[in-house]
Amino acid sequence: MRIGVISDIHGNYVAMDAVMRAMGHVDMLWCLGDLVGYGPQPNECVARLRETVHRSLRGNHDLAALGLVPLNIFNREAAAAAEWTGQHLTAENRAFVESLPEQRVEMSKFTLVHGSPRDPVWEYLLDGRQAMANFPLFDTPLCLVGHSHIPLLFDETGKGGIVKGDFVLTHQSRRFTRLIVNPGSVGQPRDRNPKAAYMILTTFPLRLEWHRVAYDIPAVQRLFKEARLPNALAERLAVGV
Ligand code: ZN
Repeated sequence: MRIGVISDIHGNYVAMDAVMRAMGHVDMLWCLGDLVGYGPQPNECVARLRETVHRSLRGNHDLAALGLVPLNIFNREAAAAAEWTGQHLTAENRAFVESLPEQRVEMSKFTLVHGSPRDPVWEYLLDGRQAMANFPLFDTPLCLVGHSHIPLLFDETGKGGIVKGDFVLTHQSRRFTRLIVNPGSVGQPRDRNPKAAYMILTTFPLRLEWHRVAYDIPAVQRLFKEARLPNALAERLAVGV
């Protein structure tokens, strides 16, 4: 089975569309949360997911846009974007995001969380020490996380780190024990690579592919301007931070 894994779309529909085209046919599509928040096309993103996604979570920015967490815990630009998103989401799209869980287990093999097993919505799992603390907190061989917007890979010894560019991990190339992986962000990459990130997970034998795809960043930046969303959020897309 070929499964597309995406995360942190953040209302960037141009990036999402590029990812969906590059991905080609998948048997299932999983999304690790933060469908909206930051970007100018939250409704387009949620509507496309409602048609295509098989499993999705809601993340911290989704909660903010829904008004379920206070905005003062976010920085100024993120809070402004969350407020704007909350005002613009249609009732159907709002209901869909609201209905999403914060974690799930698939096929008894895959744990899906936005942040981490320890804190499914909020923890930024970024280093080996945090990974080691989280391994005892889930039961499956593989845990998929988003939230940090950085493509990552950790094994149970805490070894691993940032996955640069396109990368394939096969059953042969590494003795699979248990892994925590992050596909990276579709709509706002933060690893200084502005290309949209996604993952193809193939079962079984397990094979993980990290991919990057270029998209029309100036077109998205124009949409930020038209929506009067904070300029800093548009500018960061060009440098991948
Ligand atoms: Zn995010």
